[in-house]
Amino acid sequence: VYTSNATNVAPLIDTKKSVFTRVLPAHHSSKDIIGGFPASKPAFIDEATGVVLTRSRLRELSLALAYGLQHHSSLQALARGSTALVFSPNCLAYPVIVFGCIAAGLRLTVANAAYLSHELAHQYTDSGASLLFTSQDGVSVVQAMFAELGVSKEEAARRTVVLDADLGWVDGKGPSVTRFSELLSLGALEEEENFNGAAADETVFLCYSSGTTGKPKGVETTHANMVAILDILAPNWPKLPAGREIVPAFLPFYHIYSLAILLSLGLTLGWTSLVQPRFNLVQFFKAIEKYRIALVCVAPPVLVVLARHPDAGKYDLSSLEYMLSAAAPLSADLVKEVQTKIASGRADGVKCKIVQLYGLTETTTATNFLSFADADHKVGSVGPLVPHLEGRIVEDEEGNVDVKDGQPGELWVRGQTVMKGYLNNPAANEESFTSDGWFKTGDIVVRDREGYFWVVDRRKELIKYKGYQVAPAELESVLLTHPDVADAAVIGVNSVEEATELPRAYVVHARPAEVSALLKKLAFEKNVARWMEGKVARHKFLRGGVRVVDVIPKSAAGKILRRELREEAKKEGAQA
Ligand code: AMP
Repeated sequence: VYTSNATNVAPLIDTKKSVFTRVLPAHHSSKDIIGGFPASKPAFIDEATGVVLTRSRLRELSLALAYGLQHHSSLQALARGSTALVFSPNCLAYPVIVFGCIAAGLRLTVANAAYLSHELAHQYTDSGASLLFTSQDGVSVVQAMFAELGVSKEEAARRTVVLDADLGWVDGKGPSVTRFSELLSLGALEEEENFNGAAADETVFLCYSSGTTGKPKGVETTHANMVAILDILAPNWPKLPAGREIVPAFLPFYHIYSLAILLSLGLTLGWTSLVQPRFNLVQFFKAIEKYRIALVCVAPPVLVVLARHPDAGKYDLSSLEYMLSAAAPLSADLVKEVQTKIASGRADGVKCKIVQLYGLTETTTATNFLSFADADHKVGSVGPLVPHLEGRIVEDEEGNVDVKDGQPGELWVRGQTVMKGYLNNPAANEESFTSDGWFKTGDIVVRDREGYFWVVDRRKELIKYKGYQVAPAELESVLLTHPDVADAAVIGVNSVEEATELPRAYVVHARPAEVSALLKKLAFEKNVARWMEGKVARHKFLRGGVRVVDVIPKSAAGKILRRELREEAKKEGAQA
């Protein structure tokens, strides 16, 4: 059993409290300080309009929303522990919803903003949500979802809060056009709901992850999980230059990585998050130049853009000193390419430091985090285990044998930051946890003699397209509804150019004779890929192509032998 090899690890401060109390605490005597920083300091800036949400305004508006949620007459009654769903791209209202719901004692489930109605319906129903916040753009999807679920229009309206396109609610002077701004104007909760002591083990977030196998499941992240990860991650950040504590926030807020780092940790470290609805190359470059950005939190495909996009040369990116990459594998080659590119634009030629965080939704982000001090001599490593977490690297699925340093094995972890479990899913919990509490990550790692880890492969089915989860089981069940598909299997294939995996389907035609001619086969493969585009959110498109096969390889028990298909794809890639 491994533990962190960090020395002088500080004890966790006090994990038995609410995330709200930890992140936005009132000062015992001064209204001018919130969480150790001036109340007037910007917490979030809307990149497009420049509208600022200060720390005090964020706290006030969150408590106002909490009051509104508890007192609004025409909303579904929301008892403590009820679930609210957020369906929106990143926007200034997002942190207010997150902290407002937490202050009101609600659980929050955050959905991918690109979801189609049936995908949203799965999460809405599975999470047991009783209220839904949506951006204006999402309204038609939400209406379609309620119609599919057989919810009447009146009832749907009672369960929906639409966000304002106008940001007038931020300073309270603008027009109040939607129920969201109305909710903010009813009053203010004096104090947030209390999650002290044992109540800290109540669930606060339900992000969706497919885990080792199957369809997306609700991950029960507790207040104690979140508060612990904030303490664990805090020591690893560089002190940002004064006046430049601004961090671009384009990574989707509906992922645990953002909930923990951009929406919570950033506030405890006094950062200002520059909110962007989605990754946009030009806006990203312009923001770096305009704010002299020192630190960015990214997923690997953003590093590809930084290294190779021709427009990168048109902007002054020399202010970049630190980059954190997470959510998907990052190669040492790409790290070096980015460093060389940024250094070439600097008079002193100094290289920026690029580190990785590795972890899962189920482990409240990091199980491993490479410190910036180690960036140069452990390129490509995800760092040592974080403090307060135990790890094992096992050779076999039952965990009978632990591997030696330098050998690959599946990482198992146990500790304060591991989720409570998958919501209402005893079968998945049984599969993911051992009886003595180890959580199986499904990732294959190697540990070197100094205690640094390298993620080398994945045992589980999961595919990651640019950091977004794609669950093969979900795509397979959609493919099986195609009238001409008799059987299907989905795997990820690597794209070195884009630094990501791409979902690829292998399908068996229902009447094989119809695709025996090559041209017909190719046309069918194209047709299936295009057909999928009407059925699922963009990140799940079959960008890795479709291949017609005679039969899907399966074990005697009927399990798809994905490894065989992966080998097949590798061979094909090598020939191309
Ligand atoms: P998610 O729950 O969406 O964060 O996905 C977790 C999965 O993403 C992990 O189990 C890994 O397979 C993958 N992952 C996350 N971070 C890294 C990393 N730094 N390197 C390699 N894979 C990663």
